Amino acid sequence: MPLPSTSTQVTFPAGAVEGRSTVLAAEPLGDGRYAVVTAETPFHPLDHSWPDQPADTGSLGGVAVRDCVTGAVGPGPGPEGGALLLGADIPVRRGEEGWAWLVVHVTDEPVAVGAEVELRVDADRRAALSAAHTGCHLLALALNEALAPRWRKDPGRADALGHPDFDSLAMDTSRMDTDASTDTYRIGKSLRKKGFTSDDLAADLPALTEAVNARLASWVAADAPVRVEAPGPELTARRRWACDLPEGGASIFCGGTHLHHLGELAALSTELRLSEDGTELIAVTTPKRR
Ligand SMILES: [Zn+2]
Repeated sequence: MPLPSTSTQVTFPAGAVEGRSTVLAAEPLGDGRYAVVTAETPFHPLDHSWPDQPADTGSLGGVAVRDCVTGAVGPGPGPEGGALLLGADIPVRRGEEGWAWLVVHVTDEPVAVGAEVELRVDADRRAALSAAHTGCHLLALALNEALAPRWRKDPGRADALGHPDFDSLAMDTSRMDTDASTDTYRIGKSLRKKGFTSDDLAADLPALTEAVNARLASWVAADAPVRVEAPGPELTARRRWACDLPEGGASIFCGGTHLHHLGELAALSTELRLSEDGTELIAVTTPKRR
């Protein structure tokens, strides 16, 4: 069977956790596991370029899906096209033209190619990851607002609410798990050159944390609606997280999954800390689901 030459259609952006589709490929990975690709899937894979939200787990045709990764098939020679490359082995950026972008379900058992199967995502794990991911984007906006007075000049990049976009200018890594999101920001020379002042940041941290948490609480109380806007159904479509906050509509480019409205949370709060040398600001943002 040739590998798929078109990208997987995904239903997770709208929040789906179940589906039915045809198995297009099931390749042994050489370590006793199999890479199973379907035409359509509700499973969210780990992104190979920006691995912020962990993979969904669940089952496919009654077989356990242990992991879910991004796969890509390049425009290689021969009737079978290129080989299936996974995760870090993919040599091009997400969405590169000419490549098929695939959701790869990793199983311990083979699945028959051509079979129509039920796909079921572990819904509770998904809900926890979605809450953490929505919390991560709200933290970005609340932190940008709280840090706005620290910009001596306009850095030339504003977020959807009009504040200098500290989150994207200083972002080093962003990781979600089922409990929280952890965002690490680099506060170095290049950020200062853009106009950010880190003077007395350590002393200011309690007040900043309080301001951020007050803003997060007000947004949760407003029960703002959340959606993922997708220009197409394929895995690599350029999707946006959008949230109708009382201050205005906010949106951020995002490949993950999210809540449908903020009232699904009972609370959302963050803890800010600085590294010893003051060059990293770490935000751990914890949603409490109802
Ligand atoms: Zn995101």
